[in-house]
Amino acid sequence: MSQPGRGRLVVISAPSGAGKTTLVRELLGREPSLRFSISYTTRPPRATEMDGEDYFFVDERQFERMRSRNEFLESARVFDHWYGTGRAHVDSLLTEGFSVLMEIDWQGAQQIRGSDPHAMGIFILPPSKRELERRLRGRGTDPEPVIARRLADAVDDMSHWREFDYVVVNDDVDAAADRLVRILRGSGEEFATDDAATAARVERMLAA
Ligand code: 5GP
Repeated sequence: MSQPGRGRLVVISAPSGAGKTTLVRELLGREPSLRFSISYTTRPPRATEMDGEDYFFVDERQFERMRSRNEFLESARVFDHWYGTGRAHVDSLLTEGFSVLMEIDWQGAQQIRGSDPHAMGIFILPPSKRELERRLRGRGTDPEPVIARRLADAVDDMSHWREFDYVVVNDDVDAAADRLVRILRGSGEEFATDDAATAARVERMLAA
């Protein structure tokens, strides 16, 4: 049973290239009762990232210590690095009544589903494979094998969409944020992964 007054976990996953980060930022701006869970990672920060804002950047030893103390709600190795959600921070936000948005990969989403049946899972898809490829190619400065690996990883990630409660296509940030708000407010049935029309549309997109 979920406790009254306690917030809910909202898990958002997407392949890279789906435009998830911009969408999540938009959603957080629209939903004041929703707070972002800042993950821990062993990945080095990118030029624009701030410690304690985008991630808590830690080394492998710190991460391993936290793992051995059971301080993560979930954790997974994604690409070449470790990522994990700190249990204490999420728990205090939930107790305060906030819903907590976790932007994590499908492996972490599986762990959350196993430990919290009330968690809501949403999968974000790009509008098409072609658009995904265009986004992953970026400025065109990466070598072809790097792009090929990114694409293969993204296709592999997308195969997990059915494990989520809802699926949202990010064709336009504003429209996709509207869909997410509807889902969070309990009126997004048409985006449910068990909705036959939605499932057929997603299958068609993935097969194209
Ligand atoms: P990036 O390094 O590009 O920020 O993220 C790479 C992948 O790691 C993304 O799929 C992102 O959702 C995932 N990720 C970020 N934080 C966490 C986390 O705390 N746990 C898990 N399982 N995955 C995460």
